[in-house]
Amino acid sequence: ESSSSLLETRRLSVRYGGVVANDDVALTVEAGEIVGLIGPNGAGKTTFVDAVTGFTRSTGEVRLAGQRIDGYSSHRRRSGGMARTWQAGELFGDLTVAQNLAVALQRPGIRALLADIITGSAPPVEAIDTALEMVGLADVADRRPSELALGQQKMVGVARALVGGTRVVLLDEPAAGLDTHESQHFGEELRRIAAAGIGVLLIDHDMSLVLDVCDRLYVLDFGKVIATGKPQQIRDDPRVVAAYLGSP
Ligand code: ATP
Repeated sequence: ESSSSLLETRRLSVRYGGVVANDDVALTVEAGEIVGLIGPNGAGKTTFVDAVTGFTRSTGEVRLAGQRIDGYSSHRRRSGGMARTWQAGELFGDLTVAQNLAVALQRPGIRALLADIITGSAPPVEAIDTALEMVGLADVADRRPSELALGQQKMVGVARALVGGTRVVLLDEPAAGLDTHESQHFGEELRRIAAAGIGVLLIDHDMSLVLDVCDRLYVLDFGKVIATGKPQQIRDDPRVVAAYLGSP
């Protein structure tokens, strides 16, 4: 299906007891596009990422390049080309940048481990180099994360999600803690990732980053999409202003 979106959800819902954390969410991300998902605290943004990537139970459809994957395990979604970052995306401090990425490439399970031992397969260095180049970190591949600037450290977390044939990446507050200048630079790197044809879903509370870098936005409030459109449309939408500032 050439007309399929890279990522699409239909009527995606998540319930935690009495709380409807996601309520019939319909969202698409195309290849090469940066889509922002914003909304007040508790709106359901992280829940959406959890549901799409298979880390929490949901109802409705999740499609990757047209194919339904909502029945798949999180691991199968990851190897199918869907990756995410976590809000507390700590790196391994004792490992180099390249080694941090290599960890993400390791296949879990005793069978994979045995296969690697038998075939003597080394970590696919090429995939690591490609990801590091994409985010401008090739020069620091052999450094430890603590030796890098904060913005670069955050980018290592993103690069870790890009290795291994990632086609769509869901970033949960990847720029948290960056100052204005760092976050601007971070945004430029995100554009490079998208320019390579990867679909990006970006969650962030830094509105200037989100308005700057996203092609389209979705606004969640109480688990529902209350607005969607281009950044300039969203910024001026009265429902969005009300959701953020509280209605009179
Ligand atoms: P923030 O911007 O603060 O990270 P968010 O938009 O990511 O918030 P979620 O963390 O997805 O929001 O939470 C959505 C709703 O679901 C909240 O009411 C939250 O309390 C509830 N919730 C989230 N995770 C769970 C869980 N594991 N069990 C029960 N309720 C949960």
